[in-house]
Amino acid sequence: GVPADHDHPGTARLTVLAGPTAVGKGTVSADIRARYPQVWLSVSATTRPARPGEVHGVHYLFVTPEEFDRMVADGEMLEWAVVHGRHRYGTPRGPVVEHLAAGRPTLLEIDLQGARQVREAVARSGLDAQFVFLAPPSFDELVRRLVGRGTEDAEERERRLATARVEMAAEAEFDVTIVNDDVTRATDALARLLGADPGPGAE
Ligand code: 5GP
Repeated sequence: GVPADHDHPGTARLTVLAGPTAVGKGTVSADIRARYPQVWLSVSATTRPARPGEVHGVHYLFVTPEEFDRMVADGEMLEWAVVHGRHRYGTPRGPVVEHLAAGRPTLLEIDLQGARQVREAVARSGLDAQFVFLAPPSFDELVRRLVGRGTEDAEERERRLATARVEMAAEAEFDVTIVNDDVTRATDALARLLGADPGPGAE
């Protein structure tokens, strides 16, 4: 098998952040990007169209279904999943491996199906990884956030809500839980797990 690489001095730990729909993973990731630039935040490929303000190569790689197929066929995805029964999302393997090898704390913000795939890949490869569950203060609060965001129509909201109920039960599979009652606090807790110090002026 592939030798374990836990003790390679240049190799950083992979952190996987997952949690239910609308718990605020995207907000926490954006806050990590803004305040902890030493963390490499993986850029996922997706077949979903860009929302206003989203930048290709920063928030996602927006690709056609054909290009996504090619990336999967060529073994370029560390994991991928159909999320909310619609669009495909996947983590390109190359940049993750490169940043870890360069000793940079690396964060994946993905759904639970993806987190399970990464757990299996990690078990095979001996990568050092930790799995962090971002939880809402309560399920009612999660529902409030889901409805309040207003980026989805009613049918889409129902679909995401159904997914969220199932996803809440997955907490037990994770190494650590962070409750997202306050974004700054949640981000700082995640940064500590990543081993990232606050940047200058972050106080
Ligand atoms: P959104 O369309 O709102 O940006 O993201 C929808 C969901 O896709 C979120 O739960 C997010 O965590 C998940 N997601 C984003 N990128 C990836 C990825 O690369 N792989 C997987 N499995 N899920 C992803």
